[in-house]
Amino acid sequence: MRVSQFFISTLKEAPAEAELISHKLMLRAGLIKRLGSGLYTWMPLGLRILRKIENIVREEMDKSGAIELLMPAIQPAELWQETGRWDVFGPQMLKIKDRHEHDFCFGPTHEEIITDIVRRELSSYRQLPLNFYQIQTKFRDEIRPRFGVMRAREFLMKDAYSFHADVESLEETYQLMYQTYDRIFTRLGLIFRAVAADTGAIGGSGSHEFHVLAESGEDAIAFCPDSDYAANIELATSLLPAKTPQKPDAKIQKIHTPGQKTCVDVANFLNLPLQQTIKTLAVTANSKLYLLLLRGDHQLNELKVRKIPFLADFEMASEETILNETGTVPGYIGPVGLATEIVADKAVMEMTNFACGANEEGFHFTQVNFGHDFKKPDHVFDIRNVLAGELSPDGKGNLEIRRGIEVGHIFKLGTKYSEQMKATYLNKLGQKQNCEMGCYGIGISRIVAAAIEQNNDDLGIIFPEAIAPFQLVIIPIGLHKSEQVKSETEKLYNMCTDTNIDVLLDDRDERPGVMFADMELIGIPHRIVLGERGLKQSLVEYKGRADKNVQTIALDKINTFIM
Ligand code: ATP
Ligand code: MG
Ligand code: MG
Ligand code: MG
Repeated sequence: MRVSQFFISTLKEAPAEAELISHKLMLRAGLIKRLGSGLYTWMPLGLRILRKIENIVREEMDKSGAIELLMPAIQPAELWQETGRWDVFGPQMLKIKDRHEHDFCFGPTHEEIITDIVRRELSSYRQLPLNFYQIQTKFRDEIRPRFGVMRAREFLMKDAYSFHADVESLEETYQLMYQTYDRIFTRLGLIFRAVAADTGAIGGSGSHEFHVLAESGEDAIAFCPDSDYAANIELATSLLPAKTPQKPDAKIQKIHTPGQKTCVDVANFLNLPLQQTIKTLAVTANSKLYLLLLRGDHQLNELKVRKIPFLADFEMASEETILNETGTVPGYIGPVGLATEIVADKAVMEMTNFACGANEEGFHFTQVNFGHDFKKPDHVFDIRNVLAGELSPDGKGNLEIRRGIEVGHIFKLGTKYSEQMKATYLNKLGQKQNCEMGCYGIGISRIVAAAIEQNNDDLGIIFPEAIAPFQLVIIPIGLHKSEQVKSETEKLYNMCTDTNIDVLLDDRDERPGVMFADMELIGIPHRIVLGERGLKQSLVEYKGRADKNVQTIALDKINTFIM
C-alpha cells in the first residue's frame, strides 16, 4: 500500500476526553473516530488491525472444529421472553420497536437465537456435539461507556455456542476452547492470564475469564505464581463471608511524623501474629495514603513489593515520591486509599480499613475494605482463607493481585437455556433429553485497545507483529527529488509486494521527521529508510520499532534481511 493511495490522519494531541493511553493513541494514530458515546468508526488503518485479530480468531476457531455462521444483530423479543431474560437482562439491552409496534432488541449476546436455531435442527444424539460461532456486532447500553473501544456500546465480539449430549462432551469442548483461547491470545502477542470466574447472570456451572494484564485494567485478578490458583477477584472474595473490620486492640503507634506526614505500624496496630520481622506500614504522603510491606531488616534487596491494584482508581505515586515525601524505605505497594483534604489523624483512621498482614509464607492481605467510609465497609475479606481453601496442598505460596482487561470469557451453561427453550434431542434409547450447552466470547474490538495498553512508548504504539496494520514501512528521503531514491524505492516496494510482505510505502512529499513520527505513532514494527547519501554507498537503514539503534544494511542483502 502507498500512503498516497491510502488514508492516514494523525493528531499531535489526543482529545481531552481520552484518559487511557490506548484511547489516546488510537485517536492520535487515527485508528478510530468517535461518533457518539460508546460509538466508534473504524478508520481504514484501524480496520486492518481489527481484521488481523478477527482472522487469527477465525483460524483458531476453525481449527478447533467450530463452525462459523452469522446471526442477525436485531432480535425479536419473543425469544428473550421464553427465557425470561427480556425482563431481567436490564438496561444494557437496547429495546426497539418496528413499524408494527413489535418489540425487538439489538442483541447484547445470542444464547436465545442460537438455541432457537438448534432446537429446530436437532433430533438425534448423532448430530452432537456442535459448536457454532460468529464474529458479529453487539450493542450493550453500558452505564459508563469509556476508554474508547475498550468499553464501547457497539463492539465486535466473537461468540460461540456449543451443544452436547452429556456433560462429559461439554467438558471436552470446554477444555478445547480453553486451549484454543490460549493459542489465540498467544498468537496475538499478548501477556494474559486465564482465571476462574463466577458464572453470574448468564448462569451455568463453570467459567473462566481471560485477562490481558495491564495496570489500567478495570478488573482485578488473584493468582498464585507457585500453584495453579487463579481467580477473578469477585470469585476469590465471594468464597468468604463479609466481616466487619476487627477492632484494634493496640494503640496506633506513630513512628514517623515529619510535618504533615504520618507513618504507622499497622501490623503492630492490628496485633497480627508475625513470626518474622515483617512490618506493614501505612504512610500518608501528598495527602494520599499508601501501604508499605517491609521484610526482614529493611534492606532493599529483601523488600517485597506488592501492589493492591484493585484500589488503583486512586492516584498512583512513584516509589521515589514516597521515599522523598516520607523518608521511609523505597518499597511501596501502591496507593490504598485517598486522604485528600483530611488531616493526618483521620487518614490514619481510614487506613486501618486497609490493614494488611503478613506471616512466614509471605504477604497476605488480611483485610481490605473497598469503601471510603470507615463505619460502612462495603467489602472486607480475608485472603488467607482463600489461600487456605484453594492453594497447593502444602498451603504455601503468595497470592498476587494484578489488574486485568477481560478479553475472553468461557462458560459451561449446562441445561439452563435448553430446558427453558426445549432444545432437546433423542438419546441412544430414544429418550428426549435436554442439550448441555457452553458459550465462549472474545472481545475482538477490545483486544485492539488491550494490545496497545501493553505495547506503547513515548513515541506511540508498538504493535505486536501479528496484529500490526502493516509489517514494514519504507520511508524514502527525497523521493520526489532523486531519481536514484525513486527507482531503488520502487524496486524494494515491488519486491515486498511480490513476496506478500504487508508493506506500506510512505510516498508523501513530507519532511522526514513528519514521516518518522507518524509511522512511529502508528506502531509499524519494521522500518527501512532509503536516502541518496546511503544509496551512493549501496546502503539503507533499518530500525525495528522497539529498537534503540538504527542498523545499516547493504542494498544487495536487503532481500535476505527482510525474508
Ligand atoms: P465486562 O465485565 O468488561 O463488562 P462482560 O463480562 O460483560 O465484560 P461478556 O458477556 O463476558 O462481557 O462478553 C464477552 C467479551 O466481550 C468480554 O470478555 C469482553 O472482552 C467483550 N466485551 C464485553 N463488553 C464490552 C464492551 N462494552 N466493549 C467492548 N468489549 C466488550
Ligand atoms: Mg459487562
Ligand atoms: Mg466481566
Ligand atoms: Mg464476561
